[in-house]
Amino acid sequence: MSPSPSRPPSGAAPAARPPQRLTPMLRQYLEIKAAHPDAILLYRMGDFYEMFFDDAERAAPILEVQLTARQKGTDSEAPMCGVPHHALDAYLGKLLAAGLRVAVCDQVEDPAEAKGLVRREVTRVITPGTVSEPELLDGKEENLLAGVVWDGDDRRGGGGNGGGAGAFLDVSTGNFFVRRWLDAGEGVDDLEVLRPREVLYDEAGLPEPVRGWIERRVPCSAALDGDRLFDRGRAAELLERHFGTATLRGFGLAPGEPAVRAAAAALAYARETQHSDLAHVRSLALRESGERMVLDPTTLANLEVFRGLREGGRRGTLLAVIDRTVTAPGGRALRDWLRRPLRDPAAIARRHDAVGELLDDAARRERLRELLAGTGDPERLLARAVLGSLTPREAAALRDGLALVPEVLARLAGCSSQLLAELAAADPLPALAAELARVLADEPAASAAEGGVIAEGVDRELDDCRSLARDTKRHILSLEAKEREATGIGSLKIRYNKVFGYFAEVTKANAHRVPDHYVRKQTLVNAERYVTAEIKELEEKILAAEERRLALEERHYRELVARVAAEAEGLGALAAALGALDVLAAFAEQAARGRYARPRIDPPGAPIDVRAGRHPVVEATSREPFVPNDAELDSESSQIVLLTGPNMGGKSTYLRQVALIVLMAQAGSFVPAEAAAIGAVDRIFTRVGASDDLARGESTFMVEMIETANILHHAGPESLVVLDEVGRGTATFDGLSLAWAIVEHLHEHGRPKTLFATHYHELTELASVLPRVVNRTLAVKEWHDDIVFLRRVVPGSADKSYGIQVARLAGIPESVVARAAEVLANLEAGEYDLSGRPRIARGGGPEPAGGDQLALFAPEEQAVASILRGADVDRLTPLEALNLLHRLKARLR
Ligand code: ADP
Ligand code: MG
Repeated sequence: MSPSPSRPPSGAAPAARPPQRLTPMLRQYLEIKAAHPDAILLYRMGDFYEMFFDDAERAAPILEVQLTARQKGTDSEAPMCGVPHHALDAYLGKLLAAGLRVAVCDQVEDPAEAKGLVRREVTRVITPGTVSEPELLDGKEENLLAGVVWDGDDRRGGGGNGGGAGAFLDVSTGNFFVRRWLDAGEGVDDLEVLRPREVLYDEAGLPEPVRGWIERRVPCSAALDGDRLFDRGRAAELLERHFGTATLRGFGLAPGEPAVRAAAAALAYARETQHSDLAHVRSLALRESGERMVLDPTTLANLEVFRGLREGGRRGTLLAVIDRTVTAPGGRALRDWLRRPLRDPAAIARRHDAVGELLDDAARRERLRELLAGTGDPERLLARAVLGSLTPREAAALRDGLALVPEVLARLAGCSSQLLAELAAADPLPALAAELARVLADEPAASAAEGGVIAEGVDRELDDCRSLARDTKRHILSLEAKEREATGIGSLKIRYNKVFGYFAEVTKANAHRVPDHYVRKQTLVNAERYVTAEIKELEEKILAAEERRLALEERHYRELVARVAAEAEGLGALAAALGALDVLAAFAEQAARGRYARPRIDPPGAPIDVRAGRHPVVEATSREPFVPNDAELDSESSQIVLLTGPNMGGKSTYLRQVALIVLMAQAGSFVPAEAAAIGAVDRIFTRVGASDDLARGESTFMVEMIETANILHHAGPESLVVLDEVGRGTATFDGLSLAWAIVEHLHEHGRPKTLFATHYHELTELASVLPRVVNRTLAVKEWHDDIVFLRRVVPGSADKSYGIQVARLAGIPESVVARAAEVLANLEAGEYDLSGRPRIARGGGPEPAGGDQLALFAPEEQAVASILRGADVDRLTPLEALNLLHRLKARLR
């Protein structure tokens, strides 16, 4: 297929700058390139893969190789660069990371035998979203290709939701699911969370924010406007045929809806680029949010679940701290569980039961984890088999992994928790395991074409060929002995070279004793070389046996790979079971190491009650001993907790710790606390005031407000809302007023459980007005002019912000600190200016000239003040007074 990319295609057609004269080689290159205009073409020449023209210019800086020219200075000069063939994978990785598609063009006939130009063909097309080579993938991460379709203006033709949909396919595992989106915001959120490596989208009707996100965030995308991949009529049919179902209703999908077209496009594209039927893609899941907690991308970012806010890497994230999985499928499952925690208390309890059982039995857990570590990545190996690219060594890895499964399952026998008992009943695929063990050599060679891949005893003929090959030496020696005896030449040797094959070599001195039936082949300085009919016959036998051996090995290997691919369903299910088991064992392991407790999950809406909770990441990474804190949120009495306290007091940490405990609990993990009871939450929202969020580089007050608006619209009584310094991104009074109104709204509408950290102590007055608002503060101890952070959350509110003490801790010069204390004293002493605002300039020094105030207020206000100051009220008539009032008001407007 040839999608028409929305941007300059990754490998623009070289025709843009054709050389004047085409060599046959370049003509062949251009023909092949024409079939892959949107990919970088790697063209095999000798030991190198070469790129030409625009491809070369584009790739050279990415690959960090030198850009040169072929046939420099002639009229067929062409820019080119190349990479050694043996290092292909490393270079492929760089091209893919840069978001480029790559077509690998190999020589498909032996150059030694070719007449004229060697025949070449594209043998693989690799794209960022469809790559399945293990060397090019991060085992613990998904690698998603996405199709994105919007309903456009024709709302009747589709599934009737009028929105859009995304389909997400992981070719390397066969995982395939769709998401329906009601609006652009949902679409962008999903894309942001799932981060597909490659996106195909239908331009028709696509909302601007979605298109914008794709163009900004996905280096490899293609707009497939009106492309047959999105064809409404054929989409359902394509999927039905692939899954062998008569209708898509079983998947919960309607034939013409965007989800179906998106899924069909992704599947068709992957099948075409991979030249495979993708039989390991066995089902299409409609992932609806009903069963799962919704975590929007901002929340995942603020809570640093997968990526740190500052560096964007894995360090300092929840995942980095709790990921004790020992397999790649386990790692992927863990990400999925954290990204989409459960909501049903019973389903969550099943996970907790299993974790608890594995926690209590350390010996069992340890042995299981050891065994699991050896099971490898059956999911991705299956995908490789289906794609026909499973190497013999990967097959051996699958064999060795499967061999461990019965023991893994045996270790689960007798487990009482329902989930572990279910996992114990997984099918270990004994027939496939036996077949792999029987057919595959113990340590197979890297490629079936080299032989040495199939075990002894699989095929009698193969064994015979092998023994002949092994016996070649013996046959030759016996023939040699026979000829020596017949000719009486004791130094006669039978030898081999590539040009003549086998021959008898006789020294010059003995040449006259050679019998007539010896045919001379070659004369050397000191020796003559001959062949005989018998030597030829032996040679043919040896070569035929060798050829036959390789053919048989390849055939058996191909059959074996097909056998693996045919087991798609069973292997997929087994891989999923092992992945889940790995996560449960990892949760137990982390619970043991981190002294986590089992949380109790109560029905939605019930209180959140955490005893002595800790922040899992700060506790693991900070040098200070961590101070545990309780948290109580209750829709009836303490729906909204207003948290005040000095900067650096621990407010943000506390907020995040409560949210993370809820998230972990519902993902099935134990939690860093002495005890916790959690009313199941449907969504967690977190927003962080703009100035706290500069690290993201894109946050402005506007973004903060958009995100807050989203919360006000969507948070309900089963949601948890975490607001950290919201309103800070604007002027003090604006910010305070907004924060005030937001708290009031959350109190009256939606009524989500809310944690609100703020440095506006004025907000704490809300607690006296609104019945479900409570004040908490982070305790500090004052010590002369210094403060000590106690990190303890206590009832009440901070009466000061201790900004000056914190500034001193931070190393602000003592003179500045002292002056600040003085200004503060003035403010607190209630020195006010004419307009009723605190007078702050008075200090030890002289009054500023003119006795005027610092320009704290807007010029209009100052102007009004000075008019008022100048007005002689005693001598104004009532009408003049009214006019003055009008004028002043007008100025302020
Ligand atoms: P705030 O939001 O009030 O400015 P933070 O939550 O950012 O404060 O906390 C500042 C630092 O204090 C954190 O980086 C952390 O190292 C430390 N800290 C916070 N809470 C605790 C705690 N409960 N125990 C120990 N150290 C803590
Ligand atoms: Mg903070």
